[in-house]
Amino acid sequence: MSSKFYVESEKVQYNETKQTILSTYEYQSSHVETDGERFRVKPVNTSLTFRTSARVPRVGVMLVGWGGNNGSTITASVLANKLGISWRTKDGVKTANYFGSITQSSTTSLGIGPDGKDVYVPLKDLLPMLSPNDMEFDGWDISSVNIADACSRAKVLDISIQDQLRPYLEKLKPRPSIYCPDFIAANQSDRADNVLSGTKWEMVTKIREDIKDFKQKKNLDKVIILWTANTERFCDVAAGLNDTADNLLESIKRNEAEVSSSTLFAVASILEGCTYINGSPQNTFVPGCVELAERHGVFLGGDDFKSGQTKIKSVLVDFLVSAGLKPTSIVSYNHLGNNDGKNLSAPKQFRSKEISKSNVVDDMVESNDVLYSPNEKPDHTVVIKYVPYVADSKRAMDEYTSEIFMGGHNTIVLHNTCEDSLLAAPLIIDLVIIAELCERIQVKTIDGDYEQFHSVLSILSYLLKAPMVPPGTPVVNALFRQRACIENIFRACVGLPPLNHMLLEHKIP
Ligand code: NAD
Repeated sequence: MSSKFYVESEKVQYNETKQTILSTYEYQSSHVETDGERFRVKPVNTSLTFRTSARVPRVGVMLVGWGGNNGSTITASVLANKLGISWRTKDGVKTANYFGSITQSSTTSLGIGPDGKDVYVPLKDLLPMLSPNDMEFDGWDISSVNIADACSRAKVLDISIQDQLRPYLEKLKPRPSIYCPDFIAANQSDRADNVLSGTKWEMVTKIREDIKDFKQKKNLDKVIILWTANTERFCDVAAGLNDTADNLLESIKRNEAEVSSSTLFAVASILEGCTYINGSPQNTFVPGCVELAERHGVFLGGDDFKSGQTKIKSVLVDFLVSAGLKPTSIVSYNHLGNNDGKNLSAPKQFRSKEISKSNVVDDMVESNDVLYSPNEKPDHTVVIKYVPYVADSKRAMDEYTSEIFMGGHNTIVLHNTCEDSLLAAPLIIDLVIIAELCERIQVKTIDGDYEQFHSVLSILSYLLKAPMVPPGTPVVNALFRQRACIENIFRACVGLPPLNHMLLEHKIP
C-alpha cells in the first residue's frame, strides 16, 4: 500500500493484508428548524467509518461514440501519455500531459509544514487511484471509422501527434452500435454505417456481450461505460413506459420506439454491473433506469460534461452573488463547427443542451434572499450556432449584467476560444477515476452496516453541467463547492479534516 504520505492517528488504520484504509470520522453539520419567527440551529456530530479498498483494479473504459471528437481525442491522448511522446511545434517541443484533469493536474493541501506553509500533493495521491495510463479503451460508434482516422476527421490533435500514434490507433475499431435515428439529428445519418440490427432487447443483449468480451480479452476487473456520443433529444417520461425499472425492461422487450439508444446502453451497463456516465444532456436516466441502478447497486453519473462556458458561469455567478452583487442578465452565445455543433443545429437536440445549460445558476440565486425575492431569477439566454469553419475551436461569448451599489450596473463580457474536445477529454479521465474510486469506498454509522454511496453519484457534480443527484437532495452548481466536496470526502477517507481555510494557526498568538 505504498503512498506518498500516511496519516498518523488512532482514527486511521492501514491494513496491509486486506489492503484497506479505515478512517473513523466525525462528520459535523448543523440542522435548522424554525417556528416561523426565528431559526433554531443545532450543531450535529455524526460518527462515521470510511473503509476504502486500496487495491487499484484493472479498469476498462468503454465509450459510446468512441469515434467522435472526444472519444478519439481521449484515446489518443492517453496513449500519447503512456508512450511519453513529444512533438515539435513552432513554439518548441511539447510533451503529452494531463492538463485539465483535476485528479492528475491539481493539488490539495495535506496541512501546514514546518515553515508554516501548506504542503501540497496532487489530488491523485490523496488515495490509491487508477492512473489514466493504465486505462484500457474500447467502445462503440455508429461510424465504422478507426480511431486513427477518427482523430484525423476530428482535427483536434496536432498532426505530428496523430502521425506518431497512427500505427496504434488504426488497429482500434469501434464496435457496431445501437442507432435509433429519431433521437439524434437527421444530419448524422450519413455517418451511420456501423449499426446493430434486431430488436431493442436483442441489441441490449449484444451490448452486454461486448462488455463481457472486452473484460475477458483484456483481463479486466471492471469496466466503466461512458456516453460521449451525440446529444439526443429528450425522450418522453410516461407511466407504463419508463417510470419503473420493470416497466422500462418490459418496454424494451416490447421494442417501444420511445426508449432511446442511450437508455438502452445504460440498461445494458447496469445489468452488467458497470457504472454508467452520461456526458451529454439528454434524459437517459428516466426514473425506471435510476430504479434499476439502485436495484443492482450500480453507479450512475450525469448529465453533460461541464467543460467551458458553464464552468466559468458556475464560478462567476457564485463570485458575484457571494460578493453581494446581483446578476440580472446572463447571455451566452456559442458557435462551433465540429460534429457536435452540427448535431446541435437541429432544434430538438439544441433544446436538450439549452435545458442542461439553463439551471446552472439556480442554487446560487436561491441562496441569497437579500438580492433576490422568492422565484426571482436573472434573465438567462443561451444561443448555439453551427459554423463549420471554426471546427472544434469553439467560441463562447458571455455577457453578465449585474445590479451593484446604489442602482449602478456592472457588465462583464467574456470571449473564450478553445478546442472543445481538449477541455472535455480530461473530464472523461476524472469521471472514470473518481467513479471507480467511489466503487471502492464504503461508509457506515456506529451501529449500521457498511454501504456504498447512493447509486446516483452526485460527487461527480464538479464535472457535469446538469448534475444529477439522489431524489430529494439539493443540487450544487457552484464550482468550488463541488470541488470541495470531492476533496473533503477523499480527505475523510484518510482521516484528514475538511479544508476550512480558517488558518487559525497563523492568527492566534
Ligand atoms: P462528436 O459528434 O464528434 O462525437 C459523437 C460520436 O457519437 C460520433 O462519432 C457519432 O458517430 C457517434 N454516435 C452517435 N450516435 C451514436 C450511437 N447511438 N452509438 C454510438 N455512437 C454514436 O461529438 P463530441 O464533440 O465528441 O461530443 C460528444 C458529446 O459530448 C456530445 O453530445 C456533446 O454535446 C457532449 N459534450 C461535449 C463537450 C465538449 O466537447 N466540450 C462538452 C459537453 C458535452
